[in-house]
Amino acid sequence: MTKLALQPKIDPASYARASQEVKGSLAFAEMPRLLEVLANDKGAVEYCLSFTVDEEKFVVIGVNAKAALPLICQRCMQPFEYKVKLYSELSPVTNPDKANDLPERYEAWPLSEEMTIVPIDIIEEELLLSLPIVPMHDEAICPATKLLAASKPSEQTATHKPFANLQKLK
Ligand SMILES: [Zn+2]
Repeated sequence: MTKLALQPKIDPASYARASQEVKGSLAFAEMPRLLEVLANDKGAVEYCLSFTVDEEKFVVIGVNAKAALPLICQRCMQPFEYKVKLYSELSPVTNPDKANDLPERYEAWPLSEEMTIVPIDIIEEELLLSLPIVPMHDEAICPATKLLAASKPSEQTATHKPFANLQKLK
């Protein structure tokens, strides 16, 4: 298995015939659609793309990715690290109709007219798919949970205070 640097475009069929694997690290800053949902652009994803041909002659792109994504917690609006480790298998198709012929375990990935794929797009898309619908801290560590818990006793003292003030007035 050869390891190559990430090319802007890859011919997945020829990579698959040679059982090639591409791995490395890709800065969040290079993925504009992902960047839109991140709290900042600090960090990178560790990825490994492996190209194979399966027994049924389908070209398969195995996508492995690992990242700590800076997301905004929707409960306390503070940034937090969302750890992602994903693996999925894609198979490139020339047109959407061909997607129906794929075994269910493969996601269809569109090939360009020149029969190539853009590997950065794949890594970005898989990261986007792995994101939670509503990103939030674990409840146990979210500052908003602590605030909610802390606000309960203070409510009680608030209800006691008027009486204390009334007594002072007398
Ligand atoms: Zn939070």
